[in-house]
Amino acid sequence: MVQEYGLFVGGKWRKSEGKRFETRNPATSEILATFPSATKAEVDESAHVAKAAFEKWKKTPAPRRGELMLEAARIFRRKKEDLARVVTTEMGKVLAEGRGDVQEVIDFYEYAAGEGRRMFGETTPSELPNKMCLTVRMPVGPVGLITPWNFPMAIPAWKSGAALIAGCPFVLKPSSLTPLCAAKFVEVLEEAGFPPGVVNMLTGDGAVVGDGLVAHPDIRAISFTGGVETGKHVYESAAKKMIKVGLELGGKNPILAMEDANIELLMDGVMFGAFGTAGQRCTASSRLIVHQKIYDQVVDELVERAEKLRVGNPIDPKIDMGPVASADQEKKVLEYIEIGKKEGDKLLTGGQKLKGGAYDKGFCIAPTVFAVDRTKRLAQEEIFGPVLSVLKARDFDDAVAIANSVRYGLSSSIYTNDLRWAFRAMNDLEAGITYVNAPTIGAEVHLPFGGTKETGPTDTREAGTTALDEFTYWKTIYVDYSGRLQRAQIDTEKIVGA
Ligand code: NDP
Repeated sequence: MVQEYGLFVGGKWRKSEGKRFETRNPATSEILATFPSATKAEVDESAHVAKAAFEKWKKTPAPRRGELMLEAARIFRRKKEDLARVVTTEMGKVLAEGRGDVQEVIDFYEYAAGEGRRMFGETTPSELPNKMCLTVRMPVGPVGLITPWNFPMAIPAWKSGAALIAGCPFVLKPSSLTPLCAAKFVEVLEEAGFPPGVVNMLTGDGAVVGDGLVAHPDIRAISFTGGVETGKHVYESAAKKMIKVGLELGGKNPILAMEDANIELLMDGVMFGAFGTAGQRCTASSRLIVHQKIYDQVVDELVERAEKLRVGNPIDPKIDMGPVASADQEKKVLEYIEIGKKEGDKLLTGGQKLKGGAYDKGFCIAPTVFAVDRTKRLAQEEIFGPVLSVLKARDFDDAVAIANSVRYGLSSSIYTNDLRWAFRAMNDLEAGITYVNAPTIGAEVHLPFGGTKETGPTDTREAGTTALDEFTYWKTIYVDYSGRLQRAQIDTEKIVGA
């Protein structure tokens, strides 16, 4: 029997007035559960509930908030295997990566819980005697979290963990492709015992629930991860309310392979970076920019490796790569493959949907490699699938010029044993993240994560202590214990002369 979920508002699972939709396994098309499409009235109600909960939650000492998060992390750890299977079944990444998704939840909740005992501000001398100055972080208020399907537990955890420790109740709006992962995530927070109204989740249409949260007067910040066009729309409507917006919108991440690269290491990295999660990571290594001296060797080895990948149902531990997440994703990726062929890019391997037997029920695409010219669409646009574009560079400067020629700037990488190239790449690559001798994926939760250019505003930095910036503002406090009126700037001379 397919489980029917409701909305989670005010600490309870509730029925909705909205229509229901199904979530399916992208490898088998099996229906996993059904969810409601929340109505506008339900969006309003959840925002009111979060606002009411804010009054108490902001006054709960941050270390106490952290204790609840540690309790949640313990439950996530206990349920890790079951939750990983839900991730794999609903989203389609292989089980090892499904476990990675849940581990990221545990890591970030533990890390963010510790912030409850830090969350440092500054103290600084006053220019006047018997007066002190300090800064403290203040929670912005109830917040909306709009999340995608590719990290269906980790991204809700990054956003909610930072919001919770900062003192902000949240309304989570997960992708309509992965509501079951979100529901399982919220069930853990429910079990951990967060006060009613602090944790809320509404499933449903992005244009109704997502837009509704962004526009709602009680929602004081939005954290969004997803496509560029949706992100720009969110940014524009949030600007009308002058609220904080975190936007993380994807990339076209390059690996630079220099002539002295360790080819074996490079190949391991490229396979993981390009085809892990079937290429559906915002940090996926979607461009390989190869020095002309090693180009032919790299291309030969790449094709050989890509053709050995076993593609299929990701719940099977022998499988290296699962399906893409939905029929729409499959259509988009296949369209890009056609664009590449039409524009004259050289298809080196793959380039088709896998068919026959169990493949007919899912959305599996063969690992695909194109040799691409730098100006072509496959070299410039985010595909978000198992399609790698290989480009030839004359030298280091040319490789950097190719790397920086796209509108995105999230992650980047260089394979070299020459310190000069490594350090120049750290400086010259236009990206929020640079890896040396590792692929463009592999973010750790205690370091800032975000990009530049159209990846999102450069003040969006999830994870790390910078995650708090999305959900807090700085209050500056002056305490004058002189017992008399002291005037900054005006009384300065008197003090100097005193
Ligand atoms: P979207 O940007 O449409 O969806 C991301 C989230 O935004 C979902 O929760 C979605 O809800 C919601 N949303 C949709 N419309 C609105 C709106 N008007 N206002 C507020 N929220 C809204 O991405 P898709 O899932 O459609 O994927 C499309 C492309 O986006 C991918 O092919 C990929 O290129 C990119 N992408 C990038 C990601 C990243 O990590 N940066 C992650 C996922 C996708 P709903 O699901 O109900 O539509």
